[in-house]
Amino acid sequence: MFVNYPINAAQDNNFVHESIYEAITLIFNNLNNGVAVPLWPDVLPPRHRAKLRSRRTIRDLLVELKDIAAPLSEQQRNKALAFIDNQNEINGLLDGTTNLITPDADIELFTDCFERIFLEGFRLLTGTKSRDKHYEDIYESLSSKTCPFCGYEPFEAPGLKREDEDHYLLKDQYIASAANLMNLVPMGGKCNKSYKLQQDILFKNNRRRKALNPYGNTKAEICLLRTPARNLLDEKPDWIITISPDIEETRTWNEVFSIKDRLKDTVLSSNYESVKSEIGAFLSSLGLNSESSKEDILTGLNEYENLKRIAPEQGLGFLKDKVAKMLIEYFEQENPVVIGQVRDSLPKMLEEQLA
Ligand SMILES: [Zn+2]
Repeated sequence: MFVNYPINAAQDNNFVHESIYEAITLIFNNLNNGVAVPLWPDVLPPRHRAKLRSRRTIRDLLVELKDIAAPLSEQQRNKALAFIDNQNEINGLLDGTTNLITPDADIELFTDCFERIFLEGFRLLTGTKSRDKHYEDIYESLSSKTCPFCGYEPFEAPGLKREDEDHYLLKDQYIASAANLMNLVPMGGKCNKSYKLQQDILFKNNRRRKALNPYGNTKAEICLLRTPARNLLDEKPDWIITISPDIEETRTWNEVFSIKDRLKDTVLSSNYESVKSEIGAFLSSLGLNSESSKEDILTGLNEYENLKRIAPEQGLGFLKDKVAKMLIEYFEQENPVVIGQVRDSLPKMLEEQLA
């Protein structure tokens, strides 16, 4: 992805997941120690109690869990808790430092109840509006109000139709992280419904893989300098996109979201003509024309690139600085294709001015 989300947006609004997790821990610890389990709502952590005390479904599910856990051994309860912990070590699961626990017969005694508990938690994210606050915090942090997974899909403002909130780790497979905001990422509808779909971000063909952490620090950059200048003559140039850093995490991002294909066709090729005309108009506004010197044109191109880099456009224009950078590189190398394309975009000098 092109931008990371602020971790506070998830941590500061995560009271549903925290409440459920802490209630389960309390139930299991009390059973282990032979102490009575507090009744609702005292089973909830005091700091979040008022926000959830009226929620009866989760209350009943926690009682059901206590009844399942009571006749079992301490070891079985500890295993079940370790399973929940494991599915919520999202940073470690994404960067490959945490191995995934496969449920065994002991854990399976709990999985159906866990699934219903955490899915109810997910539903409560909407009912308690914690999901809206989470989105609002993320939206406010974005300087470009677009989906960071593709870079170009627009995000609706908070309060309008909600953007998709994707379970980065699929909720059907990683049931215990279904209500954890650290596992929920706002995502454009195209990215979510047409590309990510039900792909398991942690596995491909049963092989474990690393994936970018939306709330982490690693983001991706695009470079077009390897695109051969001759490709630019085609109606739909075949762009060569280099993604950096070239690590397994960014390769997974490209695979899951078809990044290179989408950028090539939707962002770069379809807009190349308009980028060239815009560059022509920009250079012309600086007083340049098709007969201007190489140095003056290069200075103008660098100004354009600089402008688009420090004040990037939102949406389909977000890679204009990368296109300009590539054109500058070829222009400096005196590549005839690029020199021709840039000079063609400039106003012609009038005959009388030439004479
Ligand atoms: Zn997107």
